[in-house]
Amino acid sequence: MSSAVIHYSAAACTDRGRKRSSNEDAFGFSVDHGVFVVCDGMGGAAAGEVASALAVDELMRLLKERSAGAPLPEAAEQAIMAANGTIFTRAARNPKLSGMGTTLVLLLANADRAWMLNIGDSRGYRLRGGKLEQITVDHSLVEEQVRSGRINLAEAKRSPLRNVITRALGTQPTVTADVFPLEIEPGDLFLLCSDGLTRELSDDLLESMLRLDLKLEALCERLIGAANNAGGHDNITCLLLRAGGTTQ
Ligand code: CA
Repeated sequence: MSSAVIHYSAAACTDRGRKRSSNEDAFGFSVDHGVFVVCDGMGGAAAGEVASALAVDELMRLLKERSAGAPLPEAAEQAIMAANGTIFTRAARNPKLSGMGTTLVLLLANADRAWMLNIGDSRGYRLRGGKLEQITVDHSLVEEQVRSGRINLAEAKRSPLRNVITRALGTQPTVTADVFPLEIEPGDLFLLCSDGLTRELSDDLLESMLRLDLKLEALCERLIGAANNAGGHDNITCLLLRAGGTTQ
């Protein structure tokens, strides 16, 4: 008995935005290997760029090399631990890179199953049946304040603490990602993105844009353009992944 195999297509785009002098976001994906990742680096000077690039390179390499049939969430967690160690060690050896780290949102797919993992405030969403759902939960101070009822969503958007993330890849000797198992249906559209997109565009606007009947590349460019038109205060990265038809 064979199970259904879901076919994916993907596109991604990153942009410096309108205010920053460099781009500390990074992305990588391989449709063949079912690996899709967005990182948003942080740290002084060029350290943020180093951290996000290291994370993407290490995760792509390790997850492409994973053995066929390896349980995916475990493979992802091991790769994340290894990438965390690589960044942490590099930062410890070089004072210019001290304290560097990065957020992470990762989607890992098999023939018929997928998992999303996140660290920090880069997000993963799913559009299904025209409805947008945020899959990941930010590891940020304002998210914790909203959840505990201390502030509301509108206050969170204005909070001077909205940049404070409570978990990052590479800043501590160990880190744990949150893991979200996904049931995939043909037609599902996934968005992985940095906060430079979600700070500028409301979920309602994201939903209406993701419903547009456009090729994924064009849709990525449309999202980046909209975030820039809304101010482009930060680097902007989006990665789109569509689950297509199945074969038995
Ligand atoms: Ca950012």
